[in-house]
Amino acid sequence: MDTSFIFLIVMAAIILGVTLFTTRNRGGRNVCTRCTGTGEVNEKWPDPNAPGGWHRVEGVCPKCKGKGRV
Ligand SMILES: [Zn+2]
Repeated sequence: MDTSFIFLIVMAAIILGVTLFTTRNRGGRNVCTRCTGTGEVNEKWPDPNAPGGWHRVEGVCPKCKGKGRV
């Protein structure tokens, strides 16, 4: 009887640990919406506030720093 009780406690601890681990990973592993997961961007559109009148971003995505996920 003692063994099965300990077994239940251990199982509960493992399930809890896996759940927390999975939740934490999901929270930080959303695909970046700006580069759609590629980590690189190639943006250009008219922007009166930017120097030269054009907003330009090429290369490493500034939102996810090239990781593709945020
Ligand atoms: Zn990105």
